[in-house]
Amino acid sequence: MSEKVALVTGAARGIGLATTQLFIEHGWRVAMVDRDGDALSDASTGLNKVSPFEYDVSIPSQVDAMVDSVRQTFGRIDAVVNNAGVADFGPIEDTGFDRWREVMATNLDGVFLVSQACISALRDTRGALVNIASISGLRASTLRVAYGTSKAAVIQLTKQQAAELGEYGIRANCVCPGPVRTKLAMAVHSPEIIASYHDAIPLNRYGTEREIAEVITFLCSDKASYVTGQIIASDGGFESTGVGLP
Ligand code: NAD
Repeated sequence: MSEKVALVTGAARGIGLATTQLFIEHGWRVAMVDRDGDALSDASTGLNKVSPFEYDVSIPSQVDAMVDSVRQTFGRIDAVVNNAGVADFGPIEDTGFDRWREVMATNLDGVFLVSQACISALRDTRGALVNIASISGLRASTLRVAYGTSKAAVIQLTKQQAAELGEYGIRANCVCPGPVRTKLAMAVHSPEIIASYHDAIPLNRYGTEREIAEVITFLCSDKASYVTGQIIASDGGFESTGVGLP
């Protein structure tokens, strides 16, 4: 079995599941990691060349066990997609420290921990890291104090990874999606927000999971062999046009 192996976190639904499906279409095998065991079981059933791994990326001992288990199952890791994420949506004054820590634990600590635990495997394959941030990490918007801060940190973490790991042939890049109609987004996007996004986005629509997955899998592929340290928005032009986020 020599096909390449991708480890995708948050693979049970949304952007992570679409990325898993696209990797399979490209002939890769996929380690699907998620803490939601039921959703993971539903998502992985019927997919070829995948194995589910029910772990929480924010807990160091679980991350180490997860990476050991993935290496035992597949024997190699060629790409790591740090996609697992949680959202918050509320004023700074109402964001409790527990919630702040919860968001940082998955969105930032999880990326750090999974990436670090995979370095040895990625050195063997001269592999790729792709971290999923958000356009909310590129500039401030109201009501996203923990989320936006965590995603800005992921952008910097990606640059640090590219700077340090390049000597091992490991590339690190970051994808910043604009709004996509996943469970995460729809939990916090009111009808008013949806309408205002449609107006503000030059392409006048939300993105699809598949459109984000195309960028992620490109960055993991040999076609991107000279691309590292890059922060790439896939957002219909939302961020670059300077229209304010509601
Ligand atoms: P989603 O809620 O549909 O899927 C996220 C998955 O991550 C879920 O299956 C969840 O169980 C899993 N997960 C969460 N915390 C975890 C943890 N600690 N350990 C393991 N698994 C965990 O969300 P999505 O919209 O597909 O988001 C995927 C990524 O894209 C996130 O990092 C998110 O911040 C980012 N993003 C999404 C949007 C959007 O509009 N949907 C926009 C910008 C960025």
